Parts: sequence; structure tokens; C-alpha cells
Amino acid sequence: MTPFKLTVMTPDGIAYEGEAVSIIATTDEGEVQILARHADYLAALGTGRVKLELPDGTVRTAASSGGFLTVQNGEVTLSAVTFEYKEDIDLERALRAEERAKKELSSAKDARDERLARARLNRAVSRIRIAREK
Ligand code: ATP
Repeated sequence: MTPFKLTVMTPDGIAYEGEAVSIIATTDEGEVQILARHADYLAALGTGRVKLELPDGTVRTAASSGGFLTVQNGEVTLSAVTFEYKEDIDLERALRAEERAKKELSSAKDARDERLARARLNRAVSRIRIAREK
């Protein structure tokens, strides 16, 4: 597979910079796979799995939420609001966040509270699912 340049940016810094042969990301409209020579593109990221495949065959899985995926002149950039590689996910923390978010959801006083609680719950559930994947 043909490599392309990939940069993964997070508010904490660069999570990946180098060549990749494929990236699968969860956008607002579902999972999207980008390969070399993809047309220019921009999509808003949802909450879910990111899978990077590197030229040496290494596959890295991560949980991400929010941000953008762009392709410009063949270079791919994923700018995520949150991004954790599978091995860096703190499962206990995510389980606690899930419980807290469920409580927040059941006691939400207005639509805004409910939207925030639902988004937090989605992030926690996504982290739990990805951390537990084989
Ligand atoms: P929590 O209530 O557990 O703090 P949260 O929903 O408030 O979760 P986020 O706003 O989604 O947290 O993320 C804040 C920061 O914490 C981000 O940098 C994110 O990567 C990191 N983070 C959140 N949860 C986890 C986790 N379970 N494991 C590793 N990093 C996490």
C-alpha cells in the first residue's frame, strides 16, 4: 500500500507524525477510511475508534472524540479534541465516568445538561469498548 503523510494533533501535542498507509476514523457521518491519493476532504469527528496502519504493518487503535479530519494535497491531519491510544486508556476512570454520566443524564434539568451528559456518556462508553477490544 502507498504511504501518505499523517499528523495526529491533540490539545496535549502531537500523537503521531509520520507515514501511514491507512487511517480509519469515526466522523459525524460514520467510519471513514483514508488511503493514499485521497481527494481533498474535511469531516467533523464524532466519538469512536481511530485505526492507524503504518507502512511496517503496525496497527494502532485509539479512542477519539471531536475535532476534524482533513486531507490537503495528499497530507492527512486528524485534529482531535480527545485522543487516547488503546493502551493509554484508563479503564477504571472510564467506568467511573460512565457511572457519573448516567447519573447526570437521569438528573439533567434541561436540554443542555442532557446533551452534555449524553456526550460524556458516549466518550466513556467508547473508551470502555476500545480498551476491552482484543
Ligand atoms: P473524566 O470524567 O474521566 O475526566 P471526561 O469526559 O471529563 O472524563 P474528557 O473531557 O473526555 O474527560 O477528556 C479530558 C482529558 O482526559 C483528555 O485529555 C482525555 O484524553 C483524557 N481522558 C479522559 N478519560 C480518559 C481515560 N479513561 N483514559 C485516559 N485518558 C482519559
